[in-house]
Amino acid sequence: MFLCEGTILVIMTHDTHPTFGKWFQRFFIRAWLIIVALFIFGLLLLKNNLSTLGAIFAISFGLSVPLVICYLIYKLYHIECPNCHMPLTTRKNRKMSKYEATCDRCMIVWDVGIGIGTSD
Ligand SMILES: [Zn+2]
Repeated sequence: MFLCEGTILVIMTHDTHPTFGKWFQRFFIRAWLIIVALFIFGLLLLKNNLSTLGAIFAISFGLSVPLVICYLIYKLYHIECPNCHMPLTTRKNRKMSKYEATCDRCMIVWDVGIGIGTSD
């Protein structure tokens, strides 16, 4: 086996991110409850001929879904390192079917605690 002189072997440590996964789950559940509430209220108001108010709820419902998705994706790609507070680089680890965020300064690959749905 031949190794070039001056090769720096980079060893990354793997660890679980202490807060992101929990925050993500909590936010997801709350957002989901609000979305469902908007949908039910909108439907009830429309059924009771309160069309203006019902329309407001229906529009809020329609806007809240993409907004929540965009916000969660934004947060997923803007995670802070729990050690040095530097922004992390988030990647999909298809082999492990989960998201990972890398800190180049601490040499840590953080498991953010969010899995990728196996589509195949
Ligand atoms: Zn770091």
